[in-house]
Amino acid sequence: MNLEFAALSQNESFARVAVASFLSQLDVTMEELEEIKTVVSEAVTNAIIHGYEDDPSGIVYIHVSYSDGLVELSIEDKGKGIDDVGLAMQPLYTSKPELERSGMGFTIMENFMDSLEVATGVGSGTKVRLTKRLSFKAAMQN
Ligand code: ATP
Ligand code: MG
Repeated sequence: MNLEFAALSQNESFARVAVASFLSQLDVTMEELEEIKTVVSEAVTNAIIHGYEDDPSGIVYIHVSYSDGLVELSIEDKGKGIDDVGLAMQPLYTSKPELERSGMGFTIMENFMDSLEVATGVGSGTKVRLTKRLSFKAAMQN
């Protein structure tokens, strides 16, 4: 499933619902669905407020695929990029304390998913790749 939309904060809830309705056809638990929706919100918010700094001409790209119990999700912007990813991913680090951000987005993504990879370049944008193995399918395989 591929989705692209303008970097407007009101599209964050659209992105959550769109990803959730794609996944709801699968054997996903309510808890897993809530976790994935939270992760989508965090990554999409980051793309909008940090990547594009609220410039609505920016486009956010989401890709979701599912195979053999594994959900693969990517959320990408072509915005400003991150110059120190190690620092950005530390719990409680935020570059926008004035906006009352808590610096917990990446930590939440890491906790709710099985893997997180960030590919970024200053001036070219950021792509967050996340995977999660669904429990029901995992149980079936064992
Ligand atoms: P919170 O998510 O708790 O509201 P936050 O967004 O600052 O606060 P994280 O989501 O953990 O915290 O991100 C940490 C930092 O990484 C951000 O403050 C920002 O500097 C940088 N960052 C994250 N995503 C992007 C992005 N898509 N483009 C540019 N910078 C980003
Ligand atoms: Mg964030």
